[in-house]
Amino acid sequence: MIHLTEQYRQFGISEAVYEFGKEILASLQERFIQIDQVAEYNQLKVIRAMQTANVSEACLLGTTGYGYNDLGRDTLEKVYASVFQTEDALVRPQITCGTHALALALMSNLRPGDELLSPVGKPYDTLEEVIGIRSSKGSLKEYGISYRQVDLLPDGGFDYEGIRAALRDKTKLVTIQRSKGYQTRPTLSVQQIGELIAFVKGIRPEIICMVDNCYGEFVETMEPSQVGADMVVGSLIKNPGGGLAPIGGYIAGRKDCVENAAYRLTSPGLGKEVGASLGVLPSLYQGLFLAPTVTASALKGAIFAANIYEKIGFPVVPDATQSRHDIIQAVTFGSPEGVIAFCEGIQAAASVDSFVTPEPWDMPGYDSQVIMAAGAFVSGSSIELSADGPIAPPYAVYFQGGLTFPHAKLGILMTLQRLLDKGVVTSDFKRRS
Ligand SMILES: *Cc1c(COP(=O)(O)O)cnc(C)c1O
Repeated sequence: MIHLTEQYRQFGISEAVYEFGKEILASLQERFIQIDQVAEYNQLKVIRAMQTANVSEACLLGTTGYGYNDLGRDTLEKVYASVFQTEDALVRPQITCGTHALALALMSNLRPGDELLSPVGKPYDTLEEVIGIRSSKGSLKEYGISYRQVDLLPDGGFDYEGIRAALRDKTKLVTIQRSKGYQTRPTLSVQQIGELIAFVKGIRPEIICMVDNCYGEFVETMEPSQVGADMVVGSLIKNPGGGLAPIGGYIAGRKDCVENAAYRLTSPGLGKEVGASLGVLPSLYQGLFLAPTVTASALKGAIFAANIYEKIGFPVVPDATQSRHDIIQAVTFGSPEGVIAFCEGIQAAASVDSFVTPEPWDMPGYDSQVIMAAGAFVSGSSIELSADGPIAPPYAVYFQGGLTFPHAKLGILMTLQRLLDKGVVTSDFKRRS
């Protein structure tokens, strides 16, 4: 008999909290089995992609300087193209983050006079400055690229008539954000994305459809690139880096789209030929190898959190039983205290920086104060156990990650303990009204 309660007690987690969690976990076994099956499918997909691309020991070596003939870099791009079933991919440590990858995909494929359309409402906060919704140096707007947006319907569905009306001659690219980001709208399934793309292409087949795939990779057995997306774009310090990638972003898609991005990332004339991989390739390969099971751990954590907080009485998106299309869990606490206590609990569960207290701050790219809990091996990595929330109504916290399920579980139990200690949750596990 293994005595877990004593282990948890050392983290300040009471037996009551542990038992509450245990009961909820018992009800989730069926779903966890399904998640493991998706992970198994995707694990095989990744291994096959590596085998087919002839990944060799030599691929794990890096280059320096210009990075000509970087076998490992070029092969990794083949592996990504195979995993996402695309013609080509750009996977680089020189792409600094997800926002950069998205900005690159947009700026390289749009030209002055073109229009960008988001048919799924407001994009992720940091993209507002990329697009020029909030004015910013170097935005698409500064380069004469206009933007339109069609919001989702109140039920989360697509406003097809609105989208039809918004598609104009100069519409060149449609951007579709898969994940909810800092919103409480539902995340889109790959199937829904496919339906939206089919609708757009049915009207204007030449429009480039790009999907912001952040947080969605490996959650399903299919990716948006398999249902018509011309580009899928994401960050390596989220799902596809498996927690090991120390930096990077990817753009997988149609050859001409990826080529445009490569010429913009490096230089016209140089494109994919330059860009030394230095020493990071082993972690990009091994991270991708681990990504399916790491994503599964994070997904289990999200579902565990949803079930705990829904039971207590807080609104959660997705709800306790809904199907999942990304690893983010939103919990609406309705008060700054709830958001702060939750983030403190996540921070206190970390392996790195567990002793620091997160505080709200003015984060670049966001228009309200944000509190972030992240004790990560890779700074800012949100495939690792992390939580963040804008200090603004409706006071929702966005929780994600967990490289292993036991870590995600610890984090969630720590949040609950913190909310109890601060009186946001009552001792009989009810929301204090
Ligand atoms: C994280 C994220 C981004 C931006 O990525 P960063 O790496 O934080 O720059 C863009 N879109 C979505 C949906 C995201 O989740």
